[in-house]
Amino acid sequence: MAVADITSLESLLSPSSTLTIPTKPFTEDYNNWTNYAVITPKAVIKTTSEPDIQTVVRFAAEHNLRVSVRGGGHSVFNSCDGIILDLAGWDEIVYDDDDDTIRVRPGVLGGKVMEVAGERGRCVLSGTCNTVGVTSLYLSGGLGPLTPKLGMAIDSLLSARLITASGELLTVSPESNPEVFHVLAGAGQTLGVVTEMQIKTHPLNETLNTADETVFFASITFPASRVAEITDLLSSTKWDENTAVYLMLLSPPEGGAPLFVFSISYYGSDEDAKRILKGLYDLKPIAETAKRVPYVRMNDGGEGFGERGEFKRMMGVGLKRMSVEGMKGMVEAYENLLAVGGDLGKCGVLFELLGMDVARKSSIGVYAHRDIDIWCIPLLWYSHPESHAIAEKFGRDVRKALKGGDVSEDMVVYPAFRAGDETPEELWGSKETAEKVAGMKAKLDTKGVFLKF
Ligand SMILES: Cc1cc2nc3c(=O)[nH]c(=O)nc-3n(C[C@H](O)[C@H](O)[C@H](O)COP(=O)(O)OP(=O)(O)OC[C@H]3O[C@@H](n4cnc5c(N)ncnc54)[C@H](O)[C@@H]3O)c2cc1C
Repeated sequence: MAVADITSLESLLSPSSTLTIPTKPFTEDYNNWTNYAVITPKAVIKTTSEPDIQTVVRFAAEHNLRVSVRGGGHSVFNSCDGIILDLAGWDEIVYDDDDDTIRVRPGVLGGKVMEVAGERGRCVLSGTCNTVGVTSLYLSGGLGPLTPKLGMAIDSLLSARLITASGELLTVSPESNPEVFHVLAGAGQTLGVVTEMQIKTHPLNETLNTADETVFFASITFPASRVAEITDLLSSTKWDENTAVYLMLLSPPEGGAPLFVFSISYYGSDEDAKRILKGLYDLKPIAETAKRVPYVRMNDGGEGFGERGEFKRMMGVGLKRMSVEGMKGMVEAYENLLAVGGDLGKCGVLFELLGMDVARKSSIGVYAHRDIDIWCIPLLWYSHPESHAIAEKFGRDVRKALKGGDVSEDMVVYPAFRAGDETPEELWGSKETAEKVAGMKAKLDTKGVFLKF
């Protein structure tokens, strides 16, 4: 399609919406979490208008153009060669005091929704990073530090307004278009444009077992060479619903041998937290800090992870168990990567150990991995495109080591942590669910306008 034709779309939009044709290298303007696989589109449209979004998607369907929706800008898969619908500026958020729910527009970020809930003595299921978009997180399933207490984000999803590829605006909830709601809750990123979402909030102090809206937060560090003892401890510990454990294998910025750094939130008293974490403290970490953090600040430590720019990818894999052999293989793969030197030092491996007992009580949506309590996410992070291949090899090596040598056996991947090379069954857990997702996609997006997993 010629530039002149796409600019004709501008005249169909209201004055509050803007259409821009990218001229300079697109990554400079896009300010995405990652520049990996960013594609320069024909046009970027910024809007806060549902009728304009309907116009854009109808135009795209008619002209066989792809549309990518952008909210918080943390995905590897949020650009295309057609139209980018950039909804980052649409960040209206409304708290409803009558039923303690929150309505968010597509640009609202995780930190903001925590803040608005926290002001009312309420909390929400959000991810680990304040700058990730709320809508997208809820559409993909949504894991976060409160998952052990509250389940997944989709378990707190009440309804959404969805514009499909035909331009139709649907209200989607368990009562209205329930079959669409079922797929939206987990695979919603592929169905259309969600212009508003209503989510549940939860009582803050009651959820956190506290009286002062704070969380116990511990940082505990070990040399990665202690991998066997740490793995033994982790595999023999069942964390309760009050504990959210994040573990990062990283290279210290000042250089030196790799480290395991635990970031642990505990919902209860300091004494109970220390009792629960005794096994870790008994291993004699090389550094430890513990403090109480206000709920609304509990994700602040993860801000570096949300930093925008450079090349980043996740290559997540779900685990039912950790083996010493697999974890040793992972550390070895990491040491091999670091030995290459150059710009690879920010790569690492993140583990999310989030008890899913509460989440397993729900069956909302098509998220397929409620049986998985351990997510491992090799994080590929570098600044030069020449490092693509070596970083990708590292991610594959980690997956392979952790899956005990055979990567194809029992491989499961949470779509929000995907690398892009997974099969539908790996993402959706079974052929049946994969077909359900594909069937709804085919029904609502016949021409494949929106993101395809
Ligand atoms: C640093 C970091 C931390 C993360 N932490 C967590 C975590 O703790 N828990 C977790 O579950 N996941 C987490 N994720 C994964 C994250 O949830 C997904 O990458 C999510 O898609 C990012 O949302 P976004 O709005 O920021 O990104 P965007 O790139 O803006 O959006 C990602 C995709 O979502 C779809 N989308 C966005 N907005 C809409 C909309 N309004 N309607 C329809 N589709 C839409 C589009 O397909 C888009 O390509 C994390 C990712 C990163 C990079």
